[in-house]
This record gives sequence, C-alpha cells and structure tokens, in this order.
Amino acid sequence: MNCNDFENQLGDYLDNHLSGAPLDAFEQHRRQCPLCAMLLENVKDSMVLLRQLPEVEPPAGLAGRIIAATSDAPAKPLQRLFSFFHLERELVPHLLTAALVVLFVVSAGYNFFFRQPDVPGASRAAAPAWSP
Ligand SMILES: [Zn+2]
Repeated sequence: MNCNDFENQLGDYLDNHLSGAPLDAFEQHRRQCPLCAMLLENVKDSMVLLRQLPEVEPPAGLAGRIIAATSDAPAKPLQRLFSFFHLERELVPHLLTAALVVLFVVSAGYNFFFRQPDVPGASRAAAPAWSP
C-alpha cells in the first residue's frame, strides 16, 4: 500500500468498512508512514470538532431554490408554489394538519356560539322512526 491507497481507503477505514487483508495493509501503512498516521489523526480530530458544532437549520425554501437554480428543466407548478412561499416540501403535511386543526376549531366555535337552539319538545329521542 502506498500513500494514495491509504488516502483512498481512509473513508472506508473511518466507517469501519475495511476488514481482513485490506484492513491489515491499511494499519501496517499507518504504523510505517508518519505522514499518513498524521493525516488519519487530523481527520479524526476534525471529525470530533465537527460533531461539536451546533446543527444549523437551512433557510426555508433552500432546497427548492437550489434545485431550481441548478436544474435546466423548468420547475413544476407545485415546486414554483413551494419556492414562492419559501416552503420546504417536508413542511406541507404539517401545514395541512395545522390548517385542519384551525378549521376544526373555527367550526366548533361557530357551532358553539351561533348554533340555533333546539326546538323545545323536539328531542331526537322522541322523533318518530322512519318507515318506508
Ligand atoms: Zn503514507
């Protein structure tokens, strides 16, 4: 194994995808080559630092704008709508759920405040049974 091979297999090694003879050759080169040993340690240190960074939420609509900017094909109407409102496709089910909750609350409030009072003496239990 040479330094190029080592560098090419670095990702597989860090992902624990090396085993058997390739793993042995990788570790043997790491022990014999100070530059590759330093490279491996630097990459491991960088990974530790990256894991300590806070996750950043991408701005709304970023994915749609990237696709629109990098795609030759014209955006579909739904994609244009999402992009116009800066919506992520993943948000749509949540927004639909929120809209249904609002609709339910408005409907329940309307029934509570504006419903016509029941006509006295016309309870449903006393209504005659339907017969053909
Ligand atoms: Zn090397």
